Amino acid sequence: VNKNGLLIENGIIVTLGDKSEVLENGYVFIKGGKIGKVGAGESGLDAADRIDAEGKVVLPGFICSHHHLYSSFARGMAIPGKPAKNFVDILKKLWWRLDDLLDAQDIYYSSLIALAECIKNGTTSIIDHHESQSYQTGSLDEIQKAVEEAGIRAVLCLGVSDRYGRGDKGLEENERFLKKISSIPSPLVAGMVGLHASFTVKNETVKKAVETAKRCGCGIHVHCAEDAADQKDSKTKHGMRVVERFNKLGALGPKTILVHCVHVDGKEMRLVADTKTNVAHNPESNMNNAIGAADVLSMMAHGITVGLGTDGMSSDMLAQMRCAYLLQRHLHGDPRVAFVEAPRMLLDNNRKVLSNVTSGRWNAGEIAEGAPADIAVIDYRPPTPFNKNNFLGHLIFGMVDAAVDTTIVNGRVLMRNKTLLTINEKELTSKTREIAAKFWEKFSK
Ligand SMILES: [Zn+2]
Repeated sequence: VNKNGLLIENGIIVTLGDKSEVLENGYVFIKGGKIGKVGAGESGLDAADRIDAEGKVVLPGFICSHHHLYSSFARGMAIPGKPAKNFVDILKKLWWRLDDLLDAQDIYYSSLIALAECIKNGTTSIIDHHESQSYQTGSLDEIQKAVEEAGIRAVLCLGVSDRYGRGDKGLEENERFLKKISSIPSPLVAGMVGLHASFTVKNETVKKAVETAKRCGCGIHVHCAEDAADQKDSKTKHGMRVVERFNKLGALGPKTILVHCVHVDGKEMRLVADTKTNVAHNPESNMNNAIGAADVLSMMAHGITVGLGTDGMSSDMLAQMRCAYLLQRHLHGDPRVAFVEAPRMLLDNNRKVLSNVTSGRWNAGEIAEGAPADIAVIDYRPPTPFNKNNFLGHLIFGMVDAAVDTTIVNGRVLMRNKTLLTINEKELTSKTREIAAKFWEKFSK
């Protein structure tokens, strides 16, 4: 008999998704990139490969709704001059300078570093937002190469900006890439049209981006009202608020992601809800940049699908979820809120966002027959009773601090017993320390 497939057995299976079951002593059988069978007890299946979960928790892999793979080389880098005093200053002194200096090699290696960290954190799908103003054409190919080597799923785009008069070049790169992945499809790569943010794009550029997205059947991925400066700019230049402007220019809709939405009012929330536009919340980044706290509870009460991203600060979605939980309690001064909403952003809404932006092609985030085989085994053995009703308590106060043991994407094991299989981490980091040092020299000049 020819054995086939991969069997994960003896785990606590948390299926999430529509059924949302907790199966003690459960198994998951994977075949051909999809989940073939899920159940409790002895599977009776004869698989080619077996993973004994040894009583650990088996979850669908995590999804990140907003990432920046290009930001890796900023770690530990000195920024010349006085410390940035506000959001726009941070962009000018750090991020715009950094992205303007990235070359093809920098982009590729920055991506691999962050992708390795995704795998280590059980993050199996990301929606990335790239910028490299001096190396736009072909930049998304470099990221695709890294993504396919690492083996996780990624929705890619290039953030178009008119800040140096290179908006059209950026639009061309988005369209070139979207056409390429449409003619040569990859199970791991999808695309969107990226815009940087309202305050760095002209009306003409937003309109062209909307047309490109329509032609390519996708949505727009754009930062929105991250800092109060974005609203001020829109009111001054366009006589309306940022979300009203995006709506007027046709950029909103179920395939679009508005990132942050920290400084939106009730009228804007209603526009986002009415157009079924997705929002990505990034609490760690917002706190780091001291730009304010998004009222995600209010947005969710408006019926908006608010997902959770890292904004490139890390690839750890459980940590991001707990930060969201703590920030909402702090913001509202109420210890009764966010216990359900923070996990919902990560476990339910990110799943919806990923499905929305890929036009329903990527239905990850659930352990169910026929679902993509994207799985994380968390090294967490519950010290107290664990069931469907108290799972969130374990998630927020226990699993958040546990390491990920095994990560599987599209049926391929990317990490096993905490060892990366697709990336040689020792070789990679020794190489990137050299490349980053050279990059820092460019940056300091
Ligand atoms: Zn961002």
